[in-house]
Amino acid sequence: MFVTLEQTDVAELHQFRDPVTGLRALIALHSTRLGPALGGCRFLPYPDENAAEVDVCRLARGMSFKAAMAGLPLGGGKAVIIEPTKPYDRAALFQSFGRAVESLGGRYITAMDAGTEMADLDQVATRTDHVWGYSGDGMDPSPFTALGVYTALKVSCERQLYRQDLAGLHVAIQGLGHVGRRLAMMLSWAGARLTVTDLDAEHGQKLAARLKAEFVAPDKIYEVPCDVFMPCALGGILNADTIARLDTRMIVGAANNQLASLDDARFLQERQILYTPDYVNNAGGLIALTLHHQKLGNELVRRKVKAIGRTLRHLLNDAERLRVSPAIMADRIAEQRLHDAQERAA
Ligand code: NAD
Repeated sequence: MFVTLEQTDVAELHQFRDPVTGLRALIALHSTRLGPALGGCRFLPYPDENAAEVDVCRLARGMSFKAAMAGLPLGGGKAVIIEPTKPYDRAALFQSFGRAVESLGGRYITAMDAGTEMADLDQVATRTDHVWGYSGDGMDPSPFTALGVYTALKVSCERQLYRQDLAGLHVAIQGLGHVGRRLAMMLSWAGARLTVTDLDAEHGQKLAARLKAEFVAPDKIYEVPCDVFMPCALGGILNADTIARLDTRMIVGAANNQLASLDDARFLQERQILYTPDYVNNAGGLIALTLHHQKLGNELVRRKVKAIGRTLRHLLNDAERLRVSPAIMADRIAEQRLHDAQERAA
C-alpha cells in the first residue's frame, strides 16, 4: 500500500470492509490543502484490491489537480467500491459506504462516478451529509461535464484544425455513459459525423441508430480515421500500443487518467496529435457541484463551466511557448498552485 501512496503522492488511503453488506471500499485523500477533498465514487468489478488501490490513488491525485486548475476551493479525493462477486443488496451496500464517508468527518465529500447512479448516492445520503450530486441537492454533474468537454473540443478545433464549426467533423467516441452519450447527442445536433463504441453493444447500437452514427466494436475505435478521438470510458487507454494505432488529429475526452504514463503524452506530441488534459476538459461537473453548493444560479454555473475554454487556451499557449505537451504543462501549473497553497498555510 505504501508503494502506491508514494508513487502517486497521496496523503491518506483508507480501507473499509463490511462483511454484512459485502462492502469493500477504498477512499484516497490526495490533498486537502485547498479545501475538503471532493471526488466521485467508482463502483466497478476490479480484478483485485491492488488494481482498485492504484485506480483510487491516481484518481485522487487527478481530482486535486482538477480543482487547482479550475481555481476551486477544494482538495482532491476519490473512492472506489469493489463490486461484490456474490449476490448483494445494492441499497444496503451504498448505505454502508455512506457510513465510511461519514467516519472521515467531512474531509472527504463523495459524488457520482463510473458505475454509480444518483439512486446510489441517495442511499449514501441516508448515512452522511458529505455527498454532492444526489436527489436531495438536485444537481446532476454529468450534463455540465459534457458541456465542459464540448467547450474544450471547440477550442481544440480552432487550434488544431483552424475551424470553429463542428458540422462534418468526424468524431470517434469511446464510452456512451452519462457523459459520452450526452456528448454524442450534442455533437449530432451540431452536425458532426460520429463513430461510437461501448462495451454494452446493445445500448451503443441503439444510440448509434438514433443518432445515425456508426457503431464499431470496442477495440476497433482506436483505428477509426477521424478528426477527434474522445475517450469517455475508463482510464489508462492511451498507451504505446493504442497511440500507435490512432489515426486522429486530436484527443479531447471526459475520461479521467487517459494517459497510461506521461511518456505517452510525449509520444502523442511526436505524432503531432493534440492532447488536451483530461482534468482540464472534464472539470465541468466539479465546477457545477461547487457553485451549486455556493447557491449560485444555473446561468452563472454554465458561464463558469464554459470558462474551461479560456483555461485551455492559456494552457495551450503556455505549452506551445515552452514546447512541452499540454499534459506536462497542466501538471506543472497544478503542482505549483498546490505548492503555493501549502506555503500560504505554513
Ligand atoms: P459511465 O459509467 O456512466 O459510462 C462509462 C461507459 O463507458 C459505460 O457505458 C461503459 O459500458 C463504457 N465503457 C467502459 N469501458 C469501455 C471500453 N473499454 N470501451 C468502450 N466502452 C467502455 O461513466 P461516466 O459518468 O459517463 O464517466 C465516463 C468517464 O468520465 C469516467 O472516466 C469518469 O471518471 C469521467 N468523468 C465523469 C464525470 C461525470 O460528471 N460523470 C466527471 C468527470 C470525469
